[in-house]
Amino acid sequence: MKMILPEKVNFIIRTLQKHGFEGYAVGGCVRDAMLSRVPQDWDITTSAKPEQVKSLFKHTIDTGIQHGTVTVMLDHEGFEVTTYRIDGEYEDARHPKEVQFTSNLLEDLKRRDFTINAMAYNEKDGLVDAFDGLGDLELGIIRCVGVAEERFTEDALRMLRAVRFAAQLGFSIEEQTVAAIGKLAPNLAKVSAERVQIELVKLLTSAHPEEIKTAWETGLTKVFLPEFDTMMETEQNNPHHQYSVGEHTIISLQEVKAEKVLRLTMLLHDVAKPFCRTTDENGVDHFYGHVEKGAEIARTILRRLKFDNDTTNRVCRLVACHDHMPSLTEKSVRKAVFRNGTEQYPALFDVKRADIFAQSNYLREEKLEAVASYEEFYQTIMEKQQCLSIKELAVGGSDLIELGMKPGKEIGETLKQLLELVLEDPQLNTKEKLIQQVHNLKTPHI
Ligand code: ATP
Ligand code: MG
Repeated sequence: MKMILPEKVNFIIRTLQKHGFEGYAVGGCVRDAMLSRVPQDWDITTSAKPEQVKSLFKHTIDTGIQHGTVTVMLDHEGFEVTTYRIDGEYEDARHPKEVQFTSNLLEDLKRRDFTINAMAYNEKDGLVDAFDGLGDLELGIIRCVGVAEERFTEDALRMLRAVRFAAQLGFSIEEQTVAAIGKLAPNLAKVSAERVQIELVKLLTSAHPEEIKTAWETGLTKVFLPEFDTMMETEQNNPHHQYSVGEHTIISLQEVKAEKVLRLTMLLHDVAKPFCRTTDENGVDHFYGHVEKGAEIARTILRRLKFDNDTTNRVCRLVACHDHMPSLTEKSVRKAVFRNGTEQYPALFDVKRADIFAQSNYLREEKLEAVASYEEFYQTIMEKQQCLSIKELAVGGSDLIELGMKPGKEIGETLKQLLELVLEDPQLNTKEKLIQQVHNLKTPHI
């Protein structure tokens, strides 16, 4: 089994070996290289202690000395070099209480979560694969190193990681491993929101976001996203739909680009439907108000999962406008772009299309044509560089002061009114015409 390691990785490994230590590429990078996927980063495992690693390389960063990790910097590129270790007893199904360094590679591989993540490689020894990770890679299986229940009891996050790897690689989770997740899923509650968030994002932005269904079936979503379970339980008896809210959500995830904000938006776009459902006298379900309420619930969820403000705001605003459709005229679209906020575009079109593709066939072509037309108007507005903000008005605060207006609230109000007029009629956006308008507005101070 031959694998090509990047020159810098080889350099680090050779340097370690030259000084009497062992060194291997390990974990995710070996797995990905075996699958001909480009690894995110190259991790190295070594028998050298952190202090020894530091003494061998010019530029190093103490990334996690207490866990044995030193980052070696080569030409501004960082490589994590971690000392072989045995994880001590786990506290609260979370962190190992203490780690113990060892000189035995096998001990280090044993502590790793899945067989496909427990392989090491260097040029001298080739592949070190004590748990048949290669066999599982070939079969497309996620399997724990050792006894699944024990490994999930040590660290509950591994259950969500199993689903995440299945989603990224298109693998299935081995039977006993799934059964163990089903049994121990409630333990995920002990894991920090930050760690859950990282795995959730990787799952959602993978090639198979529909694997979220496995997280639901095994009881994992119930712990960190019970709102998703509620969606799975909510039917939509309505001609526009043919799936439950949850199934519709899953399909919409598959229909949108694998980008964090877009996938999170699809995950949450209908989150309020279960709370807004009413059934009319013909037995048809309606979900009035689900958009506004959805943006609220989405915010609560994203806060709970400790997402950053920028991601949270972008997702919530997209959720808030996902269902709105302006009349298809340049003027209405211009106003919609202003009201929704230009930052929602062009992402909003991706959201709308994914939503439509996850609905029933009823009026699908018409809906898609409407979105296409909406997008064309949007593009025309952008090409013409039409004014969509106070900043882009042909007059500013200082012009109004020159007209005799007093600095203060009045000026802001006037500019807002001028913007409303320009949104109605972009031709008005010249200094001369706007000053004329200011006089028409009959502000008492002029
Ligand atoms: P990615 O491509 O997302 O970086 P990865 O496999 O490299 O995937 P990381 O979270 O970066 O995953 O972890 C690196 C390696 O450390 C894993 O391949 C695995 O061997 C080990 N590992 C990480 N987290 C755990 C854990 N919670 N329990 C056991 N081993 C773990
Ligand atoms: Mg990694």
